[in-house]
Amino acid sequence: MLTKIIPENCIACGLCQLKAPDIFDYTADGIVIFQEDDQLREKNIPSELEEQCLAAYKKCPTRAILIEKTTK
Ligand code: SF4
Repeated sequence: MLTKIIPENCIACGLCQLKAPDIFDYTADGIVIFQEDDQLREKNIPSELEEQCLAAYKKCPTRAILIEKTTK
């Protein structure tokens, strides 16, 4: 599942890391980044983490997380 983040839209609410702690992390200012890939804007999420990722996507209040493609 290809997932994109748009840090410009992020309001640092913290919900995505609550829902998907294995995928998302934050800068020192609380803005969303991918864990271990802080320069990436898009990432392929492995199937075992898709559920987390979808939960975060649904909770993000500003659509700073986008799901581009589902493999299911
Ligand atoms: S849920 Fe959305 S707005 Fe909130 S921290 Fe995550 S990306 Fe940013």
